[in-house]
Amino acid sequence: ATAAYDPDNIFARILRGEIPCRKVYEDEHALAFHDINPQAPHHILVIPKGAYVSWDDFSARAGDAEIAGFVRAVGHVAREAGLVAPGYRLLANSGPDSHQEVPHLHVHIFGGRPLGPMLA
Ligand code: 5GP
Repeated sequence: ATAAYDPDNIFARILRGEIPCRKVYEDEHALAFHDINPQAPHHILVIPKGAYVSWDDFSARAGDAEIAGFVRAVGHVAREAGLVAPGYRLLANSGPDSHQEVPHLHVHIFGGRPLGPMLA
């Protein structure tokens, strides 16, 4: 079972507008914004608007429209950032072994430089 969703996690607060972010994209299902501590020239986080802790929680509980909307939003953001031709990396930490820090599902988009081999 997935841990209960903490409504005061930092991305929930960003979604409520209580904390500012550098917004890249927003639609009905998703919000995208620049990571505060970028690890690449492009480092964007895309989050679903629903209250989901992790990939497990989202894939198990979200509706098909939410899942489709979120997946499309990730692709849209990467495309609009000009990352399709040079390429990019998607990463979603999920759960303790992954070192997930913020307990609201987020997909990292990295790009803008050669990224090297996959992280350990
Ligand atoms: P995780 O380790 O959970 O996959 O990644 C969390 C990410 O969120 C980190 O890359 C971190 O820099 C970013 N982050 C943490 N707090 C904030 C914040 O308040 N604003 C933004 N824009 N990014 C944040």
